[in-house]
Amino acid sequence: MLAERNGSSPFTPTNLMIIIKPDKKIKNRFKDIDFETLSVVFSLLFDNVYKVKKKRNFTINLKLTSGIFSYYCFQTGSTVRMNISDVIFDEKQFYTTLLHEFRHFCQDKAFRIPLTRKYYDDRTEQRYLASPAEIDADNFSVMTLPTVLRLYNRMLSFKRTVSNFNTFNGSLI
Ligand SMILES: [Zn+2]
Repeated sequence: MLAERNGSSPFTPTNLMIIIKPDKKIKNRFKDIDFETLSVVFSLLFDNVYKVKKKRNFTINLKLTSGIFSYYCFQTGSTVRMNISDVIFDEKQFYTTLLHEFRHFCQDKAFRIPLTRKYYDDRTEQRYLASPAEIDADNFSVMTLPTVLRLYNRMLSFKRTVSNFNTFNGSLI
């Protein structure tokens, strides 16, 4: 069946809205991750929540940061920084963390929630964990991880298959 051409198709990205740029340390640590393909998946995730007429593109710079905390600070501009803790070596933990911090990015750029104590309270660990912004990010990362990884892996295998056909070849296989 053909998708609707106008209007209400759930996914209408016309270009890559999210570009995930790892720093050298992250690239070296997670050599098997294809960040271009990951950017396509995250663009689809973002398109789902970014409801504005004129969509902007965003570059997310990932920076490996010493200490146990990964974080995204609400910040202005279309090039943003996301800090990933350097205690993370496991690939799955990396994806979970990335999804969690990406959700904070969505809260900032798409939902535009204010960072008041009602939404985010880090005065004690208990309040921090019970903050709506944290709960939303945790739920998002847990619930989307399997389907995100599935799509990412399917896209990788798609890329591998079609790369066999990237030059003209008129002979029989
Ligand atoms: Zn968080």
